[in-house]
Amino acid sequence: MVSVCLLFLVGAAVYVTADDSACTAASGNCQEDSLHCSGSYVSGLCTGHATRRCCIPAGSGSCSNVHIVTRSQWGARPAKTHSTMHVPVNEFFIHHTETPACTDMTACKTRVRSIQNYHMDSNGWSDIGYSFLVGEDGNVYEGRGWSYVGAHTQNYNSIAFAASMIGSYDSHLPNAKALTAVKNLIACGIQLGKIRSTYRLYGHRDAGQTSCPGDRLYAEIQTWPHYSHAHP
Ligand SMILES: [Zn+2]
Repeated sequence: MVSVCLLFLVGAAVYVTADDSACTAASGNCQEDSLHCSGSYVSGLCTGHATRRCCIPAGSGSCSNVHIVTRSQWGARPAKTHSTMHVPVNEFFIHHTETPACTDMTACKTRVRSIQNYHMDSNGWSDIGYSFLVGEDGNVYEGRGWSYVGAHTQNYNSIAFAASMIGSYDSHLPNAKALTAVKNLIACGIQLGKIRSTYRLYGHRDAGQTSCPGDRLYAEIQTWPHYSHAHP
Protein backbone atom coordinates (compact mmCIF):
# COMPACT_ATOMS: atom_id res chain seq x y z
CA MET A 1 0.00 0.00 0.00
CA VAL A 2 2.88 2.30 0.78
CA SER A 3 4.32 2.08 -2.72
CA VAL A 4 0.90 2.76 -4.26
CA CYS A 5 0.59 5.92 -2.19
CA LEU A 6 4.08 7.05 -3.12
CA LEU A 7 3.46 6.44 -6.81
CA PHE A 8 0.23 8.39 -6.54
CA LEU A 9 1.99 11.26 -4.83
CA VAL A 10 4.80 11.57 -7.37
CA GLY A 11 2.42 11.22 -10.27
CA ALA A 12 4.18 11.00 -13.65
CA ALA A 13 7.52 12.22 -12.33
CA VAL A 14 10.49 9.88 -12.55
CA TYR A 15 10.54 8.07 -9.23
CA VAL A 16 14.12 7.55 -8.04
CA THR A 17 14.82 5.67 -4.86
CA ALA A 18 18.11 5.89 -3.01
CA ASP A 19 18.97 2.37 -4.18
CA ASP A 20 18.67 3.37 -7.82
CA SER A 21 21.64 5.66 -7.33
CA ALA A 22 24.02 3.43 -9.32
CA CYS A 23 21.84 4.02 -12.37
CA THR A 24 21.46 7.70 -11.68
CA ALA A 25 25.23 8.01 -11.27
CA ALA A 26 25.62 6.45 -14.73
CA SER A 27 23.36 9.21 -16.14
CA GLY A 28 20.42 6.85 -16.55
CA ASN A 29 16.99 6.27 -15.11
CA CYS A 30 15.34 3.07 -13.96
CA GLN A 31 12.40 1.85 -16.01
CA GLU A 32 10.74 -1.29 -17.33
CA ASP A 33 12.72 -2.81 -20.19
CA SER A 34 9.51 -3.14 -22.19
CA LEU A 35 9.66 0.63 -22.62
CA HIS A 36 11.81 2.22 -25.28
CA CYS A 37 15.33 3.24 -24.32
CA SER A 38 17.12 5.42 -26.85
CA GLY A 39 20.51 4.19 -25.65
CA SER A 40 21.32 1.08 -23.67
CA TYR A 41 19.61 -0.95 -20.97
CA VAL A 42 22.04 -2.03 -18.25
CA SER A 43 21.11 -4.60 -15.62
CA GLY A 44 22.09 -4.71 -11.98
CA LEU A 45 21.78 -0.98 -11.31
CA CYS A 46 18.10 -0.76 -10.38
CA THR A 47 16.02 -2.01 -7.50
CA GLY A 48 12.81 -3.91 -8.03
CA HIS A 49 11.99 -6.91 -10.20
CA ALA A 50 14.20 -8.44 -12.86
CA THR A 51 12.83 -6.49 -15.81
CA ARG A 52 13.45 -3.09 -14.22
CA ARG A 53 16.60 -1.77 -15.91
CA CYS A 54 18.76 1.27 -16.07
CA CYS A 55 18.12 3.15 -19.32
CA ILE A 56 21.20 5.15 -20.25
CA PRO A 57 20.22 7.45 -23.11
CA ALA A 58 22.36 7.72 -26.24
CA GLY A 59 24.73 10.64 -26.02
CA SER A 60 24.93 10.69 -22.23
CA GLY A 61 28.37 9.11 -22.16
CA SER A 62 29.07 6.10 -19.96
CA CYS A 63 27.59 2.99 -21.58
CA SER A 64 25.52 4.72 -24.24
CA ASN A 65 27.84 3.25 -26.91
CA VAL A 66 26.94 -0.32 -25.91
CA HIS A 67 23.62 -1.74 -27.02
CA ILE A 68 22.66 -4.47 -24.58
CA VAL A 69 19.82 -6.79 -25.55
CA THR A 70 18.34 -7.77 -22.21
CA ARG A 71 17.25 -11.24 -21.20
CA SER A 72 13.58 -10.43 -21.56
CA GLN A 73 14.28 -8.95 -24.99
CA TRP A 74 15.91 -12.13 -26.31
CA GLY A 75 13.38 -14.39 -24.59
CA ALA A 76 15.54 -15.96 -21.89
CA ARG A 77 14.26 -18.72 -19.66
CA PRO A 78 14.50 -17.78 -15.98
CA ALA A 79 17.61 -18.97 -14.14
CA LYS A 80 16.99 -21.94 -11.84
CA THR A 81 19.27 -20.46 -9.18
CA HIS A 82 21.84 -17.69 -9.03
CA SER A 83 24.42 -16.25 -6.68
CA THR A 84 25.41 -12.65 -6.42
CA MET A 85 28.66 -11.47 -7.95
CA HIS A 86 31.04 -9.48 -5.76
CA VAL A 87 32.34 -6.49 -7.70
CA PRO A 88 34.55 -4.96 -8.89
CA VAL A 89 36.47 -7.89 -10.38
CA ASN A 90 40.08 -7.99 -11.55
CA GLU A 91 39.70 -10.45 -14.41
CA PHE A 92 37.84 -10.57 -17.71
CA PHE A 93 37.76 -13.65 -19.98
CA ILE A 94 37.07 -13.85 -23.71
CA HIS A 95 35.37 -16.94 -25.17
CA HIS A 96 33.82 -17.97 -28.46
CA THR A 97 30.62 -19.97 -28.67
CA GLU A 98 31.94 -22.38 -31.34
CA THR A 99 28.68 -22.05 -33.22
CA PRO A 100 27.84 -20.30 -36.49
CA ALA A 101 28.01 -16.51 -36.20
CA CYS A 102 24.97 -14.24 -36.48
CA THR A 103 24.79 -10.88 -38.21
CA ASP A 104 21.30 -9.60 -37.36
CA MET A 105 19.35 -9.36 -34.12
CA THR A 106 16.75 -11.96 -35.02
CA ALA A 107 19.38 -14.57 -35.81
CA CYS A 108 21.45 -13.65 -32.76
CA LYS A 109 18.46 -13.93 -30.41
CA THR A 110 17.71 -17.39 -31.81
CA ARG A 111 21.35 -18.37 -31.38
CA VAL A 112 21.50 -17.11 -27.79
CA ARG A 113 18.28 -18.98 -26.89
CA SER A 114 19.71 -22.20 -28.30
CA ILE A 115 22.95 -21.72 -26.34
CA GLN A 116 20.93 -21.20 -23.17
CA ASN A 117 18.94 -24.37 -23.88
CA TYR A 118 22.17 -26.30 -24.39
CA HIS A 119 23.74 -25.00 -21.19
CA MET A 120 20.62 -25.70 -19.11
CA ASP A 121 19.36 -28.94 -20.69
CA SER A 122 22.55 -30.70 -21.82
CA ASN A 123 25.09 -29.31 -19.36
CA GLY A 124 22.58 -29.15 -16.51
CA TRP A 125 23.55 -25.61 -15.57
CA SER A 126 21.18 -23.22 -13.84
CA ASP A 127 21.32 -20.70 -16.71
CA ILE A 128 23.28 -19.68 -19.79
CA GLY A 129 26.92 -19.75 -18.68
CA TYR A 130 28.40 -16.50 -20.01
CA SER A 131 28.07 -13.08 -18.44
CA PHE A 132 27.48 -11.61 -21.91
CA LEU A 133 27.49 -12.73 -25.54
CA VAL A 134 28.52 -10.53 -28.47
CA GLY A 135 27.07 -10.85 -31.96
CA GLU A 136 28.41 -9.76 -35.33
CA ASP A 137 25.33 -7.53 -35.44
CA GLY A 138 27.24 -5.32 -32.99
CA ASN A 139 24.89 -6.02 -30.09
CA VAL A 140 25.71 -7.38 -26.66
CA TYR A 141 23.33 -10.05 -25.35
CA GLU A 142 22.88 -10.19 -21.61
CA GLY A 143 23.67 -13.59 -20.10
CA ARG A 144 24.09 -13.62 -16.35
CA GLY A 145 24.97 -9.94 -16.57
CA TRP A 146 26.87 -7.87 -14.07
CA SER A 147 24.88 -9.14 -11.07
CA TYR A 148 25.31 -12.92 -11.01
CA VAL A 149 28.12 -15.48 -10.94
CA GLY A 150 28.47 -17.24 -14.29
CA ALA A 151 29.53 -20.71 -15.47
CA HIS A 152 32.17 -19.94 -18.05
CA THR A 153 35.71 -20.38 -16.76
CA GLN A 154 36.35 -23.11 -14.18
CA ASN A 155 37.88 -21.75 -10.95
CA TYR A 156 37.29 -18.13 -12.03
CA ASN A 157 33.52 -17.84 -12.24
CA SER A 158 33.09 -15.97 -8.99
CA ILE A 159 35.98 -13.55 -9.59
CA ALA A 160 35.70 -12.78 -13.31
CA PHE A 161 33.21 -11.71 -15.94
CA ALA A 162 33.26 -13.32 -19.38
CA ALA A 163 32.04 -12.34 -22.80
CA SER A 164 31.60 -14.93 -25.52
CA MET A 165 31.88 -13.92 -29.14
CA ILE A 166 29.10 -15.67 -31.07
CA GLY A 167 30.85 -17.69 -33.78
CA SER A 168 33.94 -19.87 -34.30
CA TYR A 169 37.17 -17.91 -34.47
CA ASP A 170 39.97 -20.39 -35.12
CA SER A 171 40.77 -19.11 -38.60
CA HIS A 172 39.18 -15.67 -38.80
CA LEU A 173 38.35 -12.76 -36.51
CA PRO A 174 34.93 -11.55 -35.38
CA ASN A 175 33.94 -8.59 -37.55
CA ALA A 176 34.78 -5.02 -36.55
CA LYS A 177 31.32 -4.39 -35.07
CA ALA A 178 31.69 -7.33 -32.68
CA LEU A 179 35.25 -6.42 -31.67
CA THR A 180 34.22 -2.82 -30.99
CA ALA A 181 31.22 -4.00 -28.99
CA VAL A 182 33.23 -6.21 -26.64
CA LYS A 183 35.82 -3.48 -26.08
CA ASN A 184 33.05 -1.00 -25.28
CA LEU A 185 31.41 -3.53 -22.97
CA ILE A 186 34.59 -3.83 -20.92
CA ALA A 187 34.93 -0.03 -20.77
CA CYS A 188 31.28 0.12 -19.67
CA GLY A 189 31.95 -2.38 -16.88
CA ILE A 190 34.76 -0.16 -15.61
CA GLN A 191 32.56 2.94 -15.69
CA LEU A 192 29.81 1.13 -13.79
CA GLY A 193 32.22 -0.03 -11.10
CA LYS A 194 31.90 -3.72 -12.05
CA ILE A 195 35.49 -4.15 -13.34
CA ARG A 196 38.64 -2.56 -11.91
CA SER A 197 40.42 -0.20 -14.26
CA THR A 198 43.56 -2.28 -13.67
CA TYR A 199 41.82 -5.48 -14.82
CA ARG A 200 43.65 -8.33 -16.55
CA LEU A 201 42.31 -9.76 -19.79
CA TYR A 202 42.58 -13.46 -20.67
CA GLY A 203 41.37 -15.98 -23.18
CA HIS A 204 39.52 -19.02 -21.85
CA ARG A 205 42.48 -21.28 -22.76
CA ASP A 206 44.68 -19.35 -20.33
CA ALA A 207 42.69 -20.91 -17.51
CA GLY A 208 42.08 -24.45 -18.74
CA GLN A 209 42.37 -27.20 -21.35
CA THR A 210 40.41 -25.72 -24.24
CA SER A 211 41.03 -24.21 -27.65
CA CYS A 212 38.56 -21.42 -26.77
CA PRO A 213 38.39 -18.58 -27.89
CA GLY A 214 39.84 -19.92 -31.17
CA ASP A 215 43.39 -19.45 -32.50
CA ARG A 216 42.74 -16.29 -34.50
CA LEU A 217 40.74 -14.50 -31.80
CA TYR A 218 43.22 -15.60 -29.14
CA ALA A 219 46.06 -14.04 -31.16
CA GLU A 220 44.03 -10.83 -31.49
CA ILE A 221 43.27 -10.33 -27.80
CA GLN A 222 46.94 -10.73 -26.97
CA THR A 223 47.49 -7.40 -28.73
CA TRP A 224 44.93 -5.64 -26.48
CA PRO A 225 46.32 -3.41 -23.74
CA HIS A 226 45.10 -5.33 -20.70
CA TYR A 227 45.98 -8.80 -21.95
CA SER A 228 47.99 -10.59 -19.28
CA HIS A 229 50.63 -13.10 -20.31
CA ALA A 230 50.87 -14.22 -16.69
CA HIS A 231 48.80 -17.21 -15.69
CA PRO A 232 45.54 -15.98 -14.16
ZN1 LIG B 1 35.34 -20.71 -23.57
